[in-house]
Amino acid sequence: METLKVRIGKDLIIGEPGHIVVQTMCNTHTYDIDATVAQCRAMSAAGAELIRITVPGMKDVPCIAEIKDRLRSEGILTPLVADIHFSSETAIAVAKTVEKVRINPGNFHPDHETAKARFAELIAVCKEYGTAIRIGLNHGSLGKYITDLYGNTPLAMAKAAMEWLQMCVENDFYQVVVSLKSSNTIVMVEAYQLLYKMMQESGVVFPMHLGVTEAGNGDSGRIKSCVGIATLLEQGIGNTVRVSLTEDPLAEIPVARYLAERYGGKSISMPQGRERVILDAACDFGPSLLMHRKDDIKLDTGLGAEFDAYLADEILQASRRRFYKPEYIACPGCGRTMYNLQDAFEKVKARTSHLKGMVIAVMGCIVNGPGEMADADWGYVGEGNGKVSIYKKNVPVLRHIPEDEAPDRLLELIESEQ
Ligand code: SF4
Repeated sequence: METLKVRIGKDLIIGEPGHIVVQTMCNTHTYDIDATVAQCRAMSAAGAELIRITVPGMKDVPCIAEIKDRLRSEGILTPLVADIHFSSETAIAVAKTVEKVRINPGNFHPDHETAKARFAELIAVCKEYGTAIRIGLNHGSLGKYITDLYGNTPLAMAKAAMEWLQMCVENDFYQVVVSLKSSNTIVMVEAYQLLYKMMQESGVVFPMHLGVTEAGNGDSGRIKSCVGIATLLEQGIGNTVRVSLTEDPLAEIPVARYLAERYGGKSISMPQGRERVILDAACDFGPSLLMHRKDDIKLDTGLGAEFDAYLADEILQASRRRFYKPEYIACPGCGRTMYNLQDAFEKVKARTSHLKGMVIAVMGCIVNGPGEMADADWGYVGEGNGKVSIYKKNVPVLRHIPEDEAPDRLLELIESEQ
C-alpha cells in the first residue's frame, strides 16, 4: 500500500518514494534569536531539509516567528518544525507560523477526553494554515491512559499512535507524519513495525519519521542510530530520519545523509574514512543481528584487529545481543537544556565506564528528562542553576547537587548499592 505524501511548506514532501528526508534540531535557546538563526543557517548549508526548534511556552512563539522571518529574508527556505511538549495552547499558537508542529497529544492533558478535544482544536488550526503535524510518541512518555491498558510496551506505543492517527482521518486531515522513538533499538524497531502493519490494515499509511532517541554520542551514538534506523529502512519502513547525538547538531547531518542516501538508492557522498567504515559496518551487520538472522560477527575493516574487535562489540551492543560496557542514554539537548550537557555526559562516562550492563541516563532538562529515561537504572538530570538531580529508576534520590560534585555522588550511590 502506498504511503501518503505529506507536504511541508511549499517544496518539501515526506513520503515520496526514493527520497528519505534529512532533518535535525537546534540546541540553542529559542529566545536567543541570533544564535538560533546562525545554527539554522549552518544546518541548512550542511544539508538539513527540515529543522526543528523547541518552543517551550507561549513567550517563545514570537521568537520563532522572528527566526523564520530572518531566515526567509536571507533566502533560506528550509521548513521549520516547532517542538512542543505538554502545552496545547503553545502548539495552537505556533501552528499559525511554522510549517510543521511536533506534538505528543497524549501529553496535552492528563484527562484523555480533554487531550482529544485540544488535539481536535490543533487539527482545525493546521487545516486552516496548511501546517503539518508530527505525532511524536516516545517510549517512556506515553499517557497514563494507554500504559494502563497495554503497559509501557511497543504495542502501547503503536496503539497510542493509531488512536491519534484515526482522529486525523476522522477529521479529514492527512498532513501527518508519525514517530515512535525509544533509546532501546529493539523496542523502537518493534513499535514501528507494529504501527506500520496496523496502518496498512487500516487502509491509510502515514509517513514515518525514524530515530533512536537519546542515542548518546561518538561511535556508540552513531552505531546505535544506524542499527535501529537501518533495520527499518531496509524493510521499506521510514520516510525521514533524525540522528540524535549528544554533540553539536551539525555532526548529526552527515550520519542522517548517509542513511538517506544508502536507503534512498543514491550514491553515498561520505568519503571512505573512519566514520564511513563505522556506518558501513553498523548498517551491514546491525540489522541482521537485531533481527536474529545472525548471532555474531567478525569484521575485517583494514583498520587493525583491535579496532575490528571494538567495532564488533559496539555493533553487538547496539543490536542488544551482547553488552560489553554500560548502556548510556543521553539526550541530544535542545533549547530546554539546563547545563553543559556534553561536558556532563563525558564526566559521567569517565566515572562509570567499568559498570558493564548498567543503564545510565544523562538528560538535559528536569521537565522532560525524567520521563524520557524509561529504561535507565540511574538518571543524571540538569536542574539549572549549576545543580543536578540524581534518579534511581525514575525516582529522584538526590536533588540540588552542585554540578562539579555530581559525577562522584552518582558513582558513590551506585557503589553503595552493589
Ligand atoms: S530531555 Fe533533552 S532533548 Fe528532551 S527536552 Fe529536555 S533537554 Fe531537550
